[in-house]
Amino acid sequence: MENRFDIAIAGAGPAGLAAAVTAMSLRKDLKVLVLEKMSQPAKKLAASGNGRGNLSNLQCSCRDEVLDFFKEAGIAVRADEAGRIYPYSEEAKSVAAVLCKRAEKLGAVIMTDSEVCNAEADPQGGFRIFVHSKKGKEEIFRAEKLLIATGGKSYAVYGSTGDGYRLARRLGHNVAPLVPSLTAVETEESLEGLKGLRMKAEVSLMQKGDIIFRERGEVQFREDCLSGICIMNMSAFLPVRRTADGREEKDNDERQEKPECRIMINTVPDFTAAGLIAFLREKASMDVSVSELTETIVKKPAADYILKRLSMDGGKPASRLGMKDIIEIANGLRCLEFTPAGRKGWKEAQVTKGGVLLEEIDMKTMESRVISGLYFAGEVTDYDGPCGGYNLNNAWLGGIRAGRAMAQCPGEITE
Ligand SMILES: Cc1cc2nc3c(=O)[nH]c(=O)nc-3n(C[C@H](O)[C@H](O)[C@H](O)COP(=O)(O)OP(=O)(O)OC[C@H]3O[C@@H](n4cnc5c(N)ncnc54)[C@H](O)[C@@H]3O)c2cc1C
Repeated sequence: MENRFDIAIAGAGPAGLAAAVTAMSLRKDLKVLVLEKMSQPAKKLAASGNGRGNLSNLQCSCRDEVLDFFKEAGIAVRADEAGRIYPYSEEAKSVAAVLCKRAEKLGAVIMTDSEVCNAEADPQGGFRIFVHSKKGKEEIFRAEKLLIATGGKSYAVYGSTGDGYRLARRLGHNVAPLVPSLTAVETEESLEGLKGLRMKAEVSLMQKGDIIFRERGEVQFREDCLSGICIMNMSAFLPVRRTADGREEKDNDERQEKPECRIMINTVPDFTAAGLIAFLREKASMDVSVSELTETIVKKPAADYILKRLSMDGGKPASRLGMKDIIEIANGLRCLEFTPAGRKGWKEAQVTKGGVLLEEIDMKTMESRVISGLYFAGEVTDYDGPCGGYNLNNAWLGGIRAGRAMAQCPGEITE
């Protein structure tokens, strides 16, 4: 194979494929090479959103740039009532397939089982890209422009093992500390009896008396951790222990240990404090036990757990409760407190917090401000959004912008 290309793209995930399709749609004469280390492109995309692929969100700024791209690439989408955008087929793998076929039809070469091990700026211009194939073959490719779209370092089974950060550093870039984010959170307190429970609640993260995060949603209780979308979103706000120089990437989990913060779960978010106390007082007079007092408000395992934490006897007649006890139960329901013990690590995190510093990238073109002709897109950059399509939107957007810029059509770039 001829080893010279106009554009080389490391990583055939959403960012890399969006860049290849965009560049080739604008300039059919370009020679574009996409290097993918896995035997299949876009494995993470195919698994995203539980296989449904929450591709974007109506709340994303610049979502129109992404929606136009889907239209031009022949990807039908629809939004749900919360504004989350999915492929119309509700099948993420179909999106990956469409993009690969489109890129190849337009003339891009996608090489799978090909890992980019190193990249150097060539003193004569362009880049030398060192590739290791699964069959043990080493190859060097040359390209005028290089896009690093290798993703983050979570869910390594889908190919993202943090290679892009190493490549970026070697090319002179700085990388903000990497932390597993959008993940389940372990607690100091035992969760015995709660395993498998799901409840609609309001979750707050308190630090030194301030609320630093609050969201309503479903909380899922696992054997040793709290999960669910609002907990995963909260995980992005947990304080992080920095490495000594504040920048060094660690291979092990950078799990934050015993941060000075508390998780508060309001298991009855639709009740006001006064409304809840009034309800409990009235029900306490109805010949029910203390356990039965909370029946129809929260599920039994939650009620049992809260009463146990309050050291209250559930079998006792509720009529014997004084006002102080009623207030204590109401508080237990409204402020179920946990101390975060750490995030679940890289195996479970949906995204990586940290990455190539955004101030070192021109966000309109995704070109490096350190080396011209070098581009970054997707999760390898220092962006992490909440659940709901924001992270894939970021990957598409970066890829589209890099693709346009690499095809040298900057006039079309919108803000
Ligand atoms: C289980 C799960 C579900 C998710 N669901 C959603 C969702 O519904 N909505 C949402 O917005 N976000 C979701 N995310 C996050 C989202 O999938 C990622 O943010 C997004 O895929 C990032 O796109 P990317 O192109 O930057 O990187 P990736 O999708 O990680 O793609 C990078 C590609 O580069 C390849 N690669 C890595 N290193 C090299 C190398 N050295 N040489 C060659 N190739 C390399 C990888 O194999 C991979 O194919 C989910 C994440 C996970 C783990």
